Amino acid sequence: MSRYSFTAAAGPLPAEVGAAVAEACRDYEGCGSILGLSFVSERFKRLQQETEAALRRLLAIPQHFRVLFLSGGATAQFAALPFNLLAGRTAVYVESGHWSRRARDEAARHGPVTTLPREGLASFAAWGSGADAAAYCHITSNETADGTQYGEYPEVPVPLLADMTSDFLTRPIDFGRVALAYAGTQKSIGVPGLTVVILRDDLLGRAASTTPRVLDYTVQAAADSRVNTPPVFAIFVLRAMLAWIEAQGGVTAMAAIARRRSEAVYAVVDGHPAYLAVAPAALRSRINPCFRLAEAAQTADFLAAAEAAGLHDLKGHPDLGGLRVSLYNGLPEAAVAALTGFLEDYARRRCAGRA
Ligand code: PMP
Repeated sequence: MSRYSFTAAAGPLPAEVGAAVAEACRDYEGCGSILGLSFVSERFKRLQQETEAALRRLLAIPQHFRVLFLSGGATAQFAALPFNLLAGRTAVYVESGHWSRRARDEAARHGPVTTLPREGLASFAAWGSGADAAAYCHITSNETADGTQYGEYPEVPVPLLADMTSDFLTRPIDFGRVALAYAGTQKSIGVPGLTVVILRDDLLGRAASTTPRVLDYTVQAAADSRVNTPPVFAIFVLRAMLAWIEAQGGVTAMAAIARRRSEAVYAVVDGHPAYLAVAPAALRSRINPCFRLAEAAQTADFLAAAEAAGLHDLKGHPDLGGLRVSLYNGLPEAAVAALTGFLEDYARRRCAGRA
């Protein structure tokens, strides 16, 4: 029996990427293991340049945007954003769930920020102007814990910053609307340890003088992201994932796959009274569908049956409960088929006649 994990914390690497990574751990370009590659070597600088070039191709990143390869996860970026961009002003944080609150709480350590509910964004008018204008507006592109996602990025009159940790490279990005995007790479594009930040040139040079150098975008951009040791191995894995995504047809292909897979999951959930989808239809995530059992007391039984069928880590976020599926780029097709088959079967076997 195959074993699949649907954990939200990290995504699997496709088999061919896993094989390339294993080989590089043995030997990289005839120079020994990638694990021992020096970050000051020309070989690493070439690897970093190729990775950036592939990212620029795949996402059509405009020339006036910089790409940074940092460490510390999206959580470090929650801290970096206010240091780099508040410049004594306030900011607007759109609250859409667990991770947007975490980002907002970090910024609130610097001073008052405006929190808006997601539904309030379209009608919000108090952006301020001139020196009183909000420094930026922050959104969480895909709420990993809550199972909601922006269908398209909002248009706002200040720079829009987006945490894309759980849907980066699962769809195109409109850089006409997004001024700064950041994402940890452990879900759809590699392994933990690396955070990609893509930001518009004009956002550089605004950092507070107390900004830690390692978090300072201007300092990192000037040093080609090598203020300190970059996560060499994770950058190698990212390049391998980008090559794989390109071979699949790029981000539009990834978006089509995520759409098809999530629709298959939601179709089963909506098709059986035994299941209840958590998010309203218009907000549903294509990456982290969340649902519950109509009879919540059966959740432990459901999870045990799923594990017995080789389907692991379907438990919802600890703060929110329920069930959650994560459909990151590297998840094999067979995993989705096995999951939807199990959901159908479980609803029929265990819940027949109860709803
Ligand atoms: N933002 C989002 C949307 C996330 O899903 C996560 C991790 N699940 C984070 C931020 C935090 O990422 P990290 O733990 O890598 O800092």
